Amino acid sequence: MKIRQPIITILGHVDHGKTTLLDKIRKTAVAQKEAGGITQHIGATEVPIEVIEKIAEPIRDILKFELKIPGLLFIDTPGHEAFSNLRKRGGSIADLAIVVIDINEGIMPQTKEAIEICKQFRVPFIIAANKIDKIPGWESREGSFIKNYQRQSDRAKQELENRVYNLVSQLYELGFESDIFFRIEDFRKTVAIVPVSAKTGEGIPELLLLTAGLAQRFLTKKLEIDENSPGKGVILEKKKDKGIYYLDVILYDGVIRKGDTIAFYGIEGPIITKVRGLFKAKPLTEIREKSNFIPVNEAHAAAGIRILTPENDKALAGSPLYVIRNNQSKILEQIKEEISSIVFEEKEGLVVKADTLGTLEAIVNILKSKGIKVSKAGIGEITKEDIIKAQSQKDEKYRVILAFNVSPIESPVPIIYDNVIYRLLEKYEEFLKQLEEQKK
Ligand code: GDP
Repeated sequence: MKIRQPIITILGHVDHGKTTLLDKIRKTAVAQKEAGGITQHIGATEVPIEVIEKIAEPIRDILKFELKIPGLLFIDTPGHEAFSNLRKRGGSIADLAIVVIDINEGIMPQTKEAIEICKQFRVPFIIAANKIDKIPGWESREGSFIKNYQRQSDRAKQELENRVYNLVSQLYELGFESDIFFRIEDFRKTVAIVPVSAKTGEGIPELLLLTAGLAQRFLTKKLEIDENSPGKGVILEKKKDKGIYYLDVILYDGVIRKGDTIAFYGIEGPIITKVRGLFKAKPLTEIREKSNFIPVNEAHAAAGIRILTPENDKALAGSPLYVIRNNQSKILEQIKEEISSIVFEEKEGLVVKADTLGTLEAIVNILKSKGIKVSKAGIGEITKEDIIKAQSQKDEKYRVILAFNVSPIESPVPIIYDNVIYRLLEKYEEFLKQLEEQKK
């Protein structure tokens, strides 16, 4: 048994600082070159545990616990769309999420959506209360939040406390107990709030240490893997590079080798094929050279890798990907069954189309949780059948198509397009409002 790196995603409302925070974590880690810096994966960045220890050194006398995990694997693309593609039957391959909230603004619609998605996929999360450098009177500086806190004026401390209190009450309304991290006794009951500034780098030591500690403490079972078992992964993205399609895969269990037979789900159903090429990312120092990835013969979980197969053009992001040794029919059944709960057809409800399995599943789940029925959940461009299906709906509120990241077409029924999940749903709510008003 080996303990793999926990897979971490960053979520939160637009402009609250997801990208800046991830960037700051990367830069802070890169600066610790002697301790190992970072390891670049495809689609993910690994911060080794030695580096986390080094960054967190100043606060180790306060937060004392032993770390046994090998590091943290951060998914490079923050946000719900990438998170959705990390799907796994009934859950997520993400082990923990960092929900970024601008502490001066509090909870916004996408924050709620992020927390809803975490709840739905049963992914524990911690809150990075960002932009503390903007708190009146706060003198923010790189490094430990706790150490810097002691230097602040009473007024600045009070301003922070007020904002934390607001967050705690907003979270309480959403059904969560939360508190600033150093006051928490049982992290399973209370969501940790870690004040940070992605701009100055304040709080990064606490955020990294706490993320590592919590992942290790509560997810050890999920992190124990058999290194030599047939690889299991999920397709994070399908990418076209110089006319060739590549699959960027997050491997969360076992091993995958060049030449292996693998199965994944495609536009027309399950596909069995062979791994023709396997690539990992070049070390960071060599980036910007001719190609950013190097061929390898095998990869062990957890890893972000690029896979080349003859069937890549048909693959779907969000699909499970399994190495097959001698259990082909069982795995095919498993994939088919799993996908049948995402791609389906029923009589009454909305027609929903999306370009990836993950986003389709996320949208349909949110609709269902709001009591909105779905008559067809499908992948790819809008077809005549989709239009007919929408037209034939008895209930007016279902005579519309929701289309996520697919091309616009002419249609007698209205189609709502977007490539951001929450905006698509907002537009549908607008549509419902207009229907109501027409009736008046
Ligand atoms: P995202 O949409 O959540 O990825 O947000 P971004 O990372 O793009 O940040 C949105 C804006 O907020 C940018 O102008 C950032 O420079 C700024 N920003 C992010 N984090 C901080 C912070 O900690 N302090 C301040 N003052 N600005 C920040």
